Amino acid sequence: LTAASGGGIVAYADSARAEEAPEPPPRKKKVVVLGTGWAGTSFLKNLDSSRYEVKVISPRNYFAFTPLLPSVTCGTVEARSVVEPIRRMFEKKGKDVAYYEAECFKIDPTKKAVHCRSAVGTNLDGNGDFMLDYDYLVVALGATVNTFNTPGVMEHCHFLKEVEDAQKIRKSVIDCFERASIPNISEEEKRKILHFVIIGGGPTGVEFAAELHDFLVEDLVKLYPAIAQFVKITIIQSGEHILNTFDQRIAVFAESKFQRDGIELSTGFRVIKVSDDSITVKCKSSGVETLVPYGMAIWSAGIGTRPVITDFMNQVGQGKRRALATNEWLRVPECDSVYAIGDCSSISQRKIMEDISTIFKVADKDNSGTLTLKEINDVLEDICIRYPQVELYMKSMHMVDIADLIKGGVGDSNKESMVVNIEEFKKALCHVDSQVKTVPATAQVAAQQGYYLADCFNKKDHCVEHPEGPLRLTGSGEGHHNFRPFRYKHLGQFAPLGGEQAAAELPGDWVSMGHSTQWLWYSVYASKQVSWRTRVLVVSDWTRRFIFGRDSSR
Ligand code: FAD
Ligand code: MG
Ligand code: MG
Ligand code: MG
Ligand code: MG
Repeated sequence: LTAASGGGIVAYADSARAEEAPEPPPRKKKVVVLGTGWAGTSFLKNLDSSRYEVKVISPRNYFAFTPLLPSVTCGTVEARSVVEPIRRMFEKKGKDVAYYEAECFKIDPTKKAVHCRSAVGTNLDGNGDFMLDYDYLVVALGATVNTFNTPGVMEHCHFLKEVEDAQKIRKSVIDCFERASIPNISEEEKRKILHFVIIGGGPTGVEFAAELHDFLVEDLVKLYPAIAQFVKITIIQSGEHILNTFDQRIAVFAESKFQRDGIELSTGFRVIKVSDDSITVKCKSSGVETLVPYGMAIWSAGIGTRPVITDFMNQVGQGKRRALATNEWLRVPECDSVYAIGDCSSISQRKIMEDISTIFKVADKDNSGTLTLKEINDVLEDICIRYPQVELYMKSMHMVDIADLIKGGVGDSNKESMVVNIEEFKKALCHVDSQVKTVPATAQVAAQQGYYLADCFNKKDHCVEHPEGPLRLTGSGEGHHNFRPFRYKHLGQFAPLGGEQAAAELPGDWVSMGHSTQWLWYSVYASKQVSWRTRVLVVSDWTRRFIFGRDSSR
């Protein structure tokens, strides 16, 4: 960068001396970013915005710290404390970025343009629509709720995706308590109104249940003593266990804590219909259907694709997929210069068996038609970068080195002197692709992808000039990129369980549970805040709650 700008200054001085008009600087490439969630903001924060002309589109002019949304539902943390204005983020970092509060409703990859509609309404011409063209498009639109077309869910259930949702839930919980406090209401009716049902036992549903339970026992029971006995919380989960993406030990710990708390777990039930006052559930084993009366229901059973992504996928021939597929460099392979990160996309990891003949040819440097251990070792690093499943497979089979893997193909030969032909090579690697892992839809993944992609953008020029990189083997996918493919680094995950207890799964098969883990949670989430402003707000909300309890007014 210094060399380039230095060169520019020299060139300018030269031409000025020659009394010619200075050559205009080369046009900056236009980068359009869709979305200001975890993925979008992480990309923008790390992008060297002096190299590009950057435009950002999002219907919400703030970033929301989603992991604290469950705390907003019960007033443990205020909504204002978990959002950071987008313009403020750019201003603070001194970024030259244009932001438009609008929704993208169509991506046109052939014209390299996006069609947007103002989120605040139309202008004087009665038209809030506009079009932006791009050289590079970064799609970071996130996901939407998925009702799996269950009747009544859209109309009657709450969701917990956005800040507004959390605020609506908070209001609605208090509504239920006030409604049940009105005189002349039968006991049966009170039980119904105060039955809070959470559909989906994943991390969000579980954390919300825990928050709600704390809110009840710590605050509402004192404020509504007459009806406290009628309150019930139920989690309906179609699988056998809640928190099934976590370590089994955590699921067991959470289930027994909830049992002690009196939170009912209905596992093995599927919701098939929701009406205004009851939920129809079907027992998966017996097929028997039952009606569950409820006062308030929260649906947190899955994520779906936004319409604009579905439309785009149809245009590029990905109509049959659930999420927008990218290659391991996060680029949408079917079109030019479009990248996708975060919950709206999923990486399709290339299978080693699809490239096995090419790999064999590249590795066989002396064209002998066979590979020695040395020949294999020479390309091993490249193979492991390009196909992470190789390492995962060896680890899962407790293999120490590649020779163990290859020996499976050639039988009982001596490690050092073994030689494999193509058939044996194929046989040795044929199960490796079973270890291909998909990355989960989490903030952690979205943020790492945003960071990685910005890094690629920052180094693009360098890579065009120096195309040789670690991917000598099958750099086919990404031409001039000498980047390693994106690799997710799992830093662990938390499950706050209420009553000042939490469970955590940390790297290295480490599980921690209980009160100290809750303190770890507090410190991690305080440190993860995007600004000192939100950090102070969140910590003071927690302190306020410790001292005064939660605010139960609407
Ligand atoms: P989002 O963060 O959803 O961002 C999408 C962005 O696109 C938003 O700015 C949105 O306004 C914008 N947008 C939407 N439509 C359009 C459009 N048409 N045009 C332009 N812009 C648009 N993950 C964890 O790792 N740990 C947790 O503890 C955790 N807790 C969670 C708790 C809750 C309640 C929820 C809902 C999620 C939680 N997650 C957690 C998951 C995490 O929030 C998501 O994985 C993450 O937000 C994905 O980032 P993203 O940028 O892809 O999408
Ligand atoms: Mg985003
Ligand atoms: Mg977000
Ligand atoms: Mg994703
Ligand atoms: Mg050879």
